[in-house]
Amino acid sequence: FELKADDLKDLQELGQGNGGSVKKVEHIPTGTIMAKKIVLIDAKPAVRKQILRELHIMHDCKSKYIISFYGAFLADPNICICMEFMDRGSLDGIYKKIGAIDIDVVGQVALAVLEGLTYLYDAHRIIHRDIKPSNILCNSRGEIKICDFGVSGELINSIADTFVGTSTYMSVCPLLLAFCAAFSQCAQYTVKSDVWSLGISLVELAFGRFPFAEDDSDDSDLSDLDGTLSPGRPPPSLSLASPSLNGANGLANGAAALESARQARREAKEKKQKRDKRKSKGVSLQGGGMTMSILELLQHIVNEPAPRLNTGPNGEGKFPKMADAFIECCLLKDPDARWTPKDLLKHEWMDYSRVADIDLEGWASTI
Ligand code: ATP
Ligand code: MG
Repeated sequence: FELKADDLKDLQELGQGNGGSVKKVEHIPTGTIMAKKIVLIDAKPAVRKQILRELHIMHDCKSKYIISFYGAFLADPNICICMEFMDRGSLDGIYKKIGAIDIDVVGQVALAVLEGLTYLYDAHRIIHRDIKPSNILCNSRGEIKICDFGVSGELINSIADTFVGTSTYMSVCPLLLAFCAAFSQCAQYTVKSDVWSLGISLVELAFGRFPFAEDDSDDSDLSDLDGTLSPGRPPPSLSLASPSLNGANGLANGAAALESARQARREAKEKKQKRDKRKSKGVSLQGGGMTMSILELLQHIVNEPAPRLNTGPNGEGKFPKMADAFIECCLLKDPDARWTPKDLLKHEWMDYSRVADIDLEGWASTI
C-alpha cells in the first residue's frame, strides 16, 4: 500500500534522537501499528526526492534481523520513514531501565546484529554506519533487529550538513565541529567500522553503561568543555568515533590529524581556564558533573587501549573468556587486523550462542 500522512494517527512519542523523533502510529486503513520516524532535512526539493528514491531500497531489505520498512514520504520540511514497530524499544532504553544485560543475552544480540550486518552487506552492499544500542530494537517475541542503517547517501549527507550547519552548535565550538567534520571526511567507513561500533555497544550493554567513562580518563580537568557529553552516555556523534579511529590510524603517519587534536585540546584547555576564572567570579555556567568532550573521547580512543569486558590486569573478570576474546576481535584498533562480521560469526562465542538455550521471549517479558 502507499503511505500517506493523512492515513496515520499518532499514538505515542517513542523517543527523540539528533536527527528527529520517532512516534508510534496507526495506519488507519489497515490497522497496522508502525513506528514513524520524522527526519528534519534542510535540503533542496531535488535532494529530498533523491533521498526518497534511495530509501526505496529498504523495501528489498528482508531479513529477520532487520526492521521491516513500510514506506517513506515527504512532509515538508521533513521526511517520514515508516517502519516496523518494536514494542520493547531499543537496547539503550532497556539497559537503562533494567540495568546491565546478562552476557548470554548480549551474545544473542551480537549474533543478531552480525547476521543483520552480513545480510545488508552481502545482499545490498550496505554498511550500517550507526550501530549503537539505540539502533538495536527488541520486541515481546524476543526478536532482536537493527534499524537506521545508511541506505541513503544523500540522507547521510543532508543530516551531516544540517547538523554541522546548526548555529547553536557552531557557536558552541566551531573548532570541535570543524575537527569532527574533517576527521570523518578523511575516515573511510567500512564494514569494519560497524564491527568496532558493535564491540563498543556490546560492552555498553554488558556493563550497563557507556564504556568510556571519566574514571579511565587520566585528564579529568578537561571536563565540562563545550560540546560535552556525560560519562556513561555516548556523545551525539559517537558514530564518528569508529570511522575517525580508522581515519586516525590512516593519518597518524605524519599527518596533521592528531596534532590538530592536540592543538584543539590545548585551546579547549585555555578556554576552560578562562571559564573557570569566570566561574570563580560567581558567573554560573552549565551545571557541574563530570563530562568528557567529543574531542577527548576521540583522543582517548586513539591513545588508550580499547575497552574490554574483563578488566583485570591479566584479562580476568566476571565475564566468560570467549565473550572477552570476541570483544577483543571487534575492538582491534588496526582495521586490517579487526575481524569482519563474517569472521565473527565463526567465533567460538557465536558458535556457543547459536546453540545455547536462551529464552529471549522470557527475557523480553521481564522488560
Ligand atoms: P540518533 O538520532 O543519534 O540515531 P536515536 O537512535 O536514539 O539517536 P532515533 O533513531 O530518532 O534516535 O530513535 C529515537 C528512539 O525511538 C530510539 O531510542 C528508540 O527507543 C525509539 N525507536 C526508534 N525506532 C523504533 C521502532 N521501530 N520501534 C520502537 N521504537 C523505536
Ligand atoms: Mg536510531
